[in-house]
Amino acid sequence: MQIEAAVLRSYDRPFVLEQVELPEPGPGQVVVEIAGTGFCHTDVLPRTPGFMAAPPLIAGHEGAGVVTAIGEHAAVPVGTPVLLSYDSCATCETCLDGHPAYCRQFFRLNMTGRGAKGSPIVRDRGGEAVASRWFGQSSFATHVLAGPRNVVPVAEDLPLHLFGPLGCGIQTGAGSVLIALGVRAGSGVVVYGAGAVGLAAVMAARVAGATTIVAVDLHDARLETALELGATHVVRGNSDTLVEQVVAVTGGGAHYALDTTAVPRIISAGIDGLRPTGTIGLVGAGDQDLVLASSALAAGKNIMGILEGDAVPQLFLPRLIELWRQGRFPFDRLVTTYPLAEIDRAEHDAASGATIKPVLIPGKD
Ligand SMILES: [Zn+2]
Ligand SMILES: [Zn+2]
Repeated sequence: MQIEAAVLRSYDRPFVLEQVELPEPGPGQVVVEIAGTGFCHTDVLPRTPGFMAAPPLIAGHEGAGVVTAIGEHAAVPVGTPVLLSYDSCATCETCLDGHPAYCRQFFRLNMTGRGAKGSPIVRDRGGEAVASRWFGQSSFATHVLAGPRNVVPVAEDLPLHLFGPLGCGIQTGAGSVLIALGVRAGSGVVVYGAGAVGLAAVMAARVAGATTIVAVDLHDARLETALELGATHVVRGNSDTLVEQVVAVTGGGAHYALDTTAVPRIISAGIDGLRPTGTIGLVGAGDQDLVLASSALAAGKNIMGILEGDAVPQLFLPRLIELWRQGRFPFDRLVTTYPLAEIDRAEHDAASGATIKPVLIPGKD
């Protein structure tokens, strides 16, 4: 079918809205008409020459919408409202062990834009293939193909257009706290970087019963938002006394920390700000080397890499939705909507920090 999609045509040019041809859904696949899709920093990685995905490509990996067509053996019927998350293979050791975020095929399925071998692919008007399996969805479009591993059926009464970010950024922040780190009641948590992922972590830390929740960022507006969402303390990330302040307000160091910045200086400070046996989770995407003294972890400290909050989307997203219904997880406060046609402005606002979580709405003028 003919759909409209925002196609990345070159590394340094804006996304271009184009009519392209979406193939028929294969076995187990569904067509989802997108109601809204989050814009995440990961979506600009294909702008980096040499990255595993390259133009021409349709990015977007926080889609939400309604199933409008199904392939053979699809698990959900036409008309089902769904959120879309990351893809996984279902059969590798880590998938079988309940950790699909660490699927052996994670990068191939999610970050090459090409998906599994033989995946149906979008073609442009000239017949050229366009990478369209980004996170098993490529949701900067009016319609996408998704598969059984990344479709999450949800209730019919949700404002679906706002809920796409649950599938990646919000899941990453909340899952890191509630699943990967397993934050316990009465503990102290420090979150480095108060963007969408970090603020989701702040909200989740409050849900978990953490009694000291520290947000660290460079932007006063974000620190203000963090306080509104449950942070008990905020610290400027460029402070010369960052570690001392963290240690002081946590009464001797944090039990848990989460770094969303991928900045080595901040990660080092995060380790220094842990109490003995504390753990820091790393979720930022960066390529700078982290250099540590060999004794940096001596006091039983731990560093944990985390993808997608180590969450199983079909289990975790319904939990977040219930918390949202109870007013305990107001992630939608982070969202600003844009028409899909204004993706360029959304990308700019996400990069500048003017918007915490842009959500693109296809067909909205
Ligand atoms: Zn797998
Ligand atoms: Zn993401």
